Amino acid sequence: MVRSLPVVASLIGAADAFQLTSLHRTQSRQPAVAMAEAVEMDPLVLSKYMALPVEGKIQAEYLWLDADGDVRSKCRTVAANKATVDQLPDWNYDGSSTGQAPGDDSEVIIKPRAIFKDPFRGGDNILVLTDTYTPAGDPLPTNKRVAAVDAFEGKTDEEPWYGLEQEYTLFNLDKITPLGWPQGGYPGPQGPYYCGAGADRSYGRAISEAHYKACLYSGIEISGTNAEVMPGQWEYQVGPSKGIDAADELWVSRYILQRVCEDFQVHVTLDPKPISGDWNGAGCHTNFSTKKMRAAGGRTEIEKAIRRLGARHAQHISAYGEGNERRLTGLHETASINDFSYGVANRGCSIRIPRSVEADDCGYLEDRRPSSNCDPYVVTAMVFETCTNEKGEELDIKPKNQAMA
Ligand code: ADP
Ligand code: MN
Ligand code: MN
Ligand code: MN
Repeated sequence: MVRSLPVVASLIGAADAFQLTSLHRTQSRQPAVAMAEAVEMDPLVLSKYMALPVEGKIQAEYLWLDADGDVRSKCRTVAANKATVDQLPDWNYDGSSTGQAPGDDSEVIIKPRAIFKDPFRGGDNILVLTDTYTPAGDPLPTNKRVAAVDAFEGKTDEEPWYGLEQEYTLFNLDKITPLGWPQGGYPGPQGPYYCGAGADRSYGRAISEAHYKACLYSGIEISGTNAEVMPGQWEYQVGPSKGIDAADELWVSRYILQRVCEDFQVHVTLDPKPISGDWNGAGCHTNFSTKKMRAAGGRTEIEKAIRRLGARHAQHISAYGEGNERRLTGLHETASINDFSYGVANRGCSIRIPRSVEADDCGYLEDRRPSSNCDPYVVTAMVFETCTNEKGEELDIKPKNQAMA
């Protein structure tokens, strides 16, 4: 809960009355404080200014990926009739403040790649997804978009589609207590929470709802949302989206999620295993198909792609997200990080073939390995390259067909 300023002020006043020195206050606060106190501002006051009409100009919020896989942004004014990807200017930011450039040559150049409607400012204002370059024109090491675009380049006839299932976990601002959990304790065991309704099992629905609407408004192909197995954990899906659009949209959807959570003053993390023990982790299941897989008889193509994925299991795992080894244990609807497996409707496998593929003999595959904090540029490009590589090695493997619990 956000404490209102008068309450905080009266607490500080009380501390002063007991003659606590500022030193004492610092010491007693240090272990517990994970971030600065929330500052509450009246949203009604803000809305008065946001409603002011502006003509001929719009606000363009430029988004980029920082060194930690977080999205940062800053805003500039552009002419309303120049708000297209081709006409928007390149821009720059201070890379020495994001750990992405030295102080004596601090500029990182950002180039507009995709635009979306801005769900926060509304009107004709836009979000501009950019990617990052040195002044000499080389992509930054954190810019994996360039390689992803290269991977898709010249292979448009494959028509790759992706459905990315982004899971995330909500926390109190202490960053220790998942939303809805008792402080210092645990809720009842997993079971009632997945897709559950009710005050005793659903925590943070307002965030999921606000985020869903904001993504729909912005033009992201968001296809659904659901409450997850661990209380305070949620999922949304982006897709089917084509080629590079899938990762572009997922990154912008993550930015929107951070902004929504900022509005609600709730902390969100994409950590793949935010609570250790008997609690589900968070993934980014990657559903993938090509034109051949979706066409009649596509199951043959799907199984060939799975055997190619199997032959490169280690390379994929190493690119599928930080800390994924804490999540891929073989328990909690995951396959062990060390073994590659696949099966129809089997959620304990690396790759799941949806039941619909068995029925229709075509469709898509689900790679369940990527973690919630993966870079979707890396994952979508790698899945594409491996699955469509005609010369790719194939693992000799049979499906594990009996679904585990
Ligand atoms: P799960 O049953 O694993 O929870 P979801 O319904 O959460 O699956 O997500 C499946 C995702 O796959 C959705 O985003 C959906 O739009 C997408 N999808 C559906 N068909 C295809 C396809 N042919 N190729 C790629 N993605 C697809
Ligand atoms: Mn899902
Ligand atoms: Mn899920
Ligand atoms: Mn899934």
